[in-house]
Amino acid sequence: MSPQDVEQAAGETASPVRGARAGLAVAAVVVALEGAWLLAALPGAALVSDLGAMLVAGWAALACLAVARRHPTPLRRFWALLAATMALAALGRAVWTVQRLAGGDLPHTPLIGALFIAGLITGTAALLCAHSAPHTTVGRARTVLDGLIVGLALVPIGWVLVFRGVAAADLADPLRTLGLLYPMLDLMQLTILVAVAGRGRPVWRPMTLIGASLTLRAVADAGYVSLVAHGGYTAGHPIDLCWPLSYLLVGAATRYPPPPDQEGGDDTAESPLPPWWRVALPYLPVGGAIVAVVLARRPTGQTPQLIFVGMMALLAALAVRQGLAANENLRLVARLRRLAYTDQLTGLPNRLMFLRRLRLALRDDTPVAVLLLDLDGFKQVNDRFGHAMGDILLTGVAERMRAAVDGHGTVARLGGDEFAVLVERDRRVSPERLAQRLLTALEPSPDEEDVGVHPSASIGIAEYGPQHASHSDLLRDADIAMYAAKAAGKSAYRSCTAGLRESAVTRAELIADLRRAVDEGQLHLEFQPIVDLVTGTVRSAEALVRWRHPRLGTLYPGRFLPLAEETGLILPIDRWVIHEACRAAATWRDRVPETTVSVNIAAAHLRRPDLIATVTAATATAGLAPGALTLELTESALIEGSETVLERLRQLRELGIRISIDDFGTGYSSLSYLHRIPATELKIDRSFVARLDDDSRAYATVEMVTRLAGAFELSVVAEGVETERQHAAVAAIGCPRGQGYLYGRPGRPAAVGATVG
Ligand code: C2E
Ligand code: MG
Ligand code: MG
Repeated sequence: MSPQDVEQAAGETASPVRGARAGLAVAAVVVALEGAWLLAALPGAALVSDLGAMLVAGWAALACLAVARRHPTPLRRFWALLAATMALAALGRAVWTVQRLAGGDLPHTPLIGALFIAGLITGTAALLCAHSAPHTTVGRARTVLDGLIVGLALVPIGWVLVFRGVAAADLADPLRTLGLLYPMLDLMQLTILVAVAGRGRPVWRPMTLIGASLTLRAVADAGYVSLVAHGGYTAGHPIDLCWPLSYLLVGAATRYPPPPDQEGGDDTAESPLPPWWRVALPYLPVGGAIVAVVLARRPTGQTPQLIFVGMMALLAALAVRQGLAANENLRLVARLRRLAYTDQLTGLPNRLMFLRRLRLALRDDTPVAVLLLDLDGFKQVNDRFGHAMGDILLTGVAERMRAAVDGHGTVARLGGDEFAVLVERDRRVSPERLAQRLLTALEPSPDEEDVGVHPSASIGIAEYGPQHASHSDLLRDADIAMYAAKAAGKSAYRSCTAGLRESAVTRAELIADLRRAVDEGQLHLEFQPIVDLVTGTVRSAEALVRWRHPRLGTLYPGRFLPLAEETGLILPIDRWVIHEACRAAATWRDRVPETTVSVNIAAAHLRRPDLIATVTAATATAGLAPGALTLELTESALIEGSETVLERLRQLRELGIRISIDDFGTGYSSLSYLHRIPATELKIDRSFVARLDDDSRAYATVEMVTRLAGAFELSVVAEGVETERQHAAVAAIGCPRGQGYLYGRPGRPAAVGATVG
């Protein structure tokens, strides 16, 4: 970063920056001059050294103070504490100088010690206030302890390195041996700095400079202690240069702008785990300390007192550190467990938790009931409005359920749009009442109804009884009841009964059988003729699927298509039907070229983008002109359809494929909507035709629809014509085409082929 950037980033006016830069230059010159003086061993080196250190430390204090006033609040404390540290260093040196000049050789007095300790505290506190330092008290305590462990472990190591060769008599002065504490405390701070700085990525430049400063001070202090111990130190020794240099580095650190905002210390964020060596760092010196303690033993077998005290302190620090770690581990385990057992979206207990509670409740052998709730039409909401909307809906449902259950049971989300309530023991509300309450709570508000994003719910209830061997039996029964509720219509609940269970077993079997039906060729098509009511000729037929079940005989669509729709098996079935119908129609057209075929398409298929590909593949394979194929879609499937569905229909129309609205009159579609559907045909539902004989309103309806269709230029087919009177009525109304048992029952393709013509 260039100095210009620094200025801009800090948002400062030019003059303080220029002043700061000049200050740094002067401080650097002072250090250089002092260096030259000390190295050349000019007279008065001791005083020059003292003055240099005082000046540079004082300047660094001012620089830190200045920057503290400019930086944002969290950093303000960091710089202010550093300023205090530098000021204490300057003060300490001043006292030292005075006492030295007053006659003390190397005045290690308690006052100076106290100033040193104060500086140590402010310096450490500054590091703990860095933006990347841990934010919690425990995190800070852990960091300080790590530093303390390293520092204390270095006491015996330092002892061996510095004092081993020194005669015991020379070590009698405790203030001398206590000098060993200086480098030790430096290294403690350095450890804390490494721990703190490494958490912000990338490392903030001032932290690097302060690290360099601390390293330099540690080297200087170690060198000093060693020199003093061996009697090689006099005031003004070139090693003195290290201290002002270390202050200079701190002062230089003030030139950098605040770090970019980052969640450096957030323990909950997905911050990468620290490398192993960072975790192990505080413990590596401990091993060295153990070796050093052995080496430090005097020939008399005595362990020096300082080492003894140091080791005791080290043990204490390690114990506290371990205690903190253990406590943190426990908290982490608790958090992980909470995560594993709750649903992230809704905050409800998840399936795992629900099953656990259920098993526990069953073990207690008390009355237990399970309510299984499934949203009807949730998938459509997800498909039409997107997953974000789906998520909002699910959280809303969870909230309403929790409020409705109101402590009378445990609400859980089992996954997707499936929820469950566990009702236990001393329940004061019956499961049925609870189900009713849930249904009421989930009823859409008027505006939710308008938007059409609020699906209704179906609830299945199962009460634990002797017929249940395990919790999975109970859940299966709740599932059976839930499907019964679904079949009963929207917003309903059902309790599982013996009868339901039996029919569900066949239902489950039927689903399993249906999976094989397409592959094993158990499906076949029947075709029902569609008759031209004016000429009496047959030019078209509707394909109707049948299933020749190996045990149950021929099954009609009403028996197995709802299962197929529920399980998604409707897609391969419809695909097979389209192909077969196209093939049959192609053979009829060999004889009568204008023959067409109608195929029913499930609503689920309409929502799939591959519908067009399926249809074009079928016509192409069969060699059938697209205009000879009519897709029948029920009115309700079309009403549910979104804009994409309409677009898909338009594309089909462009390909020449015809669209028929099946069971017209049952789906409450509005006329305006009819206008938007690119249909070519209406099929009047057979319920109207059936009532033609004796219901004038049915007659009026058929008449009106026929006229309406004419206005929209749609072809019309009257479905379910069974009697001559019905035939006469639809013919009189002017309905152009009819379909029904009167003209022909659904039959084999060959039979229909014979009637065509
Ligand atoms: P739909 O499309 O309305 O088909 C007409 C149904 O009415 C057929 O029942 C047919 O046998 C019956 N029907 C025809 N004429 C008369 C009559 O005069 N009186 C009476 N009472 N009924 C008559 P089916 O074959 O049981 O099919 C029922 C429904 O199943 C169909 O209604 C259609 O919606 C659906 N379906 C049939 N085949 C398929 C298929 O391959 N795919 C899909 N997705 N749905 C199909
Ligand atoms: Mg049909
Ligand atoms: Mg129909």
